[in-house]
Amino acid sequence: MTSGRSDTGQRDQDGAFRSAAIRTTSRRFLTGPNTQTVLRHMLRHAPAIQRDLVRNLKLSSTTVSKITTALKSSGLICEDQPESRGARGHPIVPLVWSRDLVVLGVAINDRDDLPESLLGVATTIDGRLLGSKSCSLSHQWDDENRFERLVTAIAALVHQLCDSFVGAHKGVIGLGVSLGGHVENGTIRFSINTGIGSRGGAGDIYFPLQDRLAELLTTPVFVENDVNAIANSILLLGNRMTGIKRAPFPIEADLSDDELDDFVLIAVLDGGVGGGLVVDGRLRRGATGMAGEAGHIPITSGYPTNTSAPEERKCRCGHVNCLEAYCSPAAILQELQCGSLADAVMLPESHAAAAEAFMSAGRALGTAIAGLANGLNPRAFILHLPLELQAASPRNAGGFFDWGMRHAIIDNCFSDTAERTRVAVRFSSQQEQRHRCALASAQLVVERLICGNL
Ligand SMILES: [Zn+2]
Repeated sequence: MTSGRSDTGQRDQDGAFRSAAIRTTSRRFLTGPNTQTVLRHMLRHAPAIQRDLVRNLKLSSTTVSKITTALKSSGLICEDQPESRGARGHPIVPLVWSRDLVVLGVAINDRDDLPESLLGVATTIDGRLLGSKSCSLSHQWDDENRFERLVTAIAALVHQLCDSFVGAHKGVIGLGVSLGGHVENGTIRFSINTGIGSRGGAGDIYFPLQDRLAELLTTPVFVENDVNAIANSILLLGNRMTGIKRAPFPIEADLSDDELDDFVLIAVLDGGVGGGLVVDGRLRRGATGMAGEAGHIPITSGYPTNTSAPEERKCRCGHVNCLEAYCSPAAILQELQCGSLADAVMLPESHAAAAEAFMSAGRALGTAIAGLANGLNPRAFILHLPLELQAASPRNAGGFFDWGMRHAIIDNCFSDTAERTRVAVRFSSQQEQRHRCALASAQLVVERLICGNL
């Protein structure tokens, strides 16, 4: 990020984008380790007061004072109304993120392996929602212009967001876009969810969505896998983004700062299963953007001796025995020949095939978790599961799923890993998950901002 750039921000009347009002003079300013520590703490815990920054971050008051002064003069943070007075009668001034800098996020939602709709949000840097817009993608997606139509639809939605939620005194600092599938440096390589890209070989079709949007919008654009985006937003915003506070039994407490710096996120979505990996306080994308992709881990072993291994199942990726071929809602519905997950979970306790289907799906997820726990040793797993799988009792669908998952973890974790790894489960509806995805897309911009890469 440099001072005086003219190509970011809200559209003015001529259709160009107005510069966001960030007055940072040097990238090195933001990439300094102490400044990054303050920015990351502010994202999770703002409003913050200077005294708490000194105490919690173990920095000297002189260092914190220099950093906060520079951040205030850059326009990134500002002072809020004093809430109380200190021991000597001085007002205690909370520091908050600027309300004038806006980040935009767009989630590409899919259904039946095609793009279905877009959900766009405008938020502040610390993820507070300013407003949202959506649009349906009711196109025929079988001709060669479909990629360009997607680009045009996203650009139009971005313009709507700017017109509605970015006032005259505000500026946009960037756009994040997310979708299901393999995304590498903003290029879609293989998205089964949207039918974009291919698996390699002679017919390779990759689509550089990030570059195409950047050409059209003249604002920094970052395109990322959807679950990676959510993992990044949890890393940045902490427990505000871990999930909707609908706890199973027993009630889950918030994750600690250490756990939020070191976790694997697995999201079981309607069609498939996605994953994201955070290690040592950084989102890890791996060599080609695939790190943490849990959905296509092969599940062919790891079953207790008294349980028969599942029959071979074809995955929509083209392989067999992937995790999502066993534990996604689509897989459960196919097995039970049921129309919706809401119907499937209502099958009675006495329906042995239903009980086994949910337990087996949970077991597949638990086996994958144990493999990841043994291989990566994160502090925590954060599981985003469909609301329908919430366990109302040990003997309903959610209860069977939970039992299968937890026993597979215990049966397959090495040493004492099962006891020492936190498994935090969050349940949400499809609508809530899509909303979370759009908010998380906007945080892709914030990730680059605080690393000095914007
Ligand atoms: Zn697969």
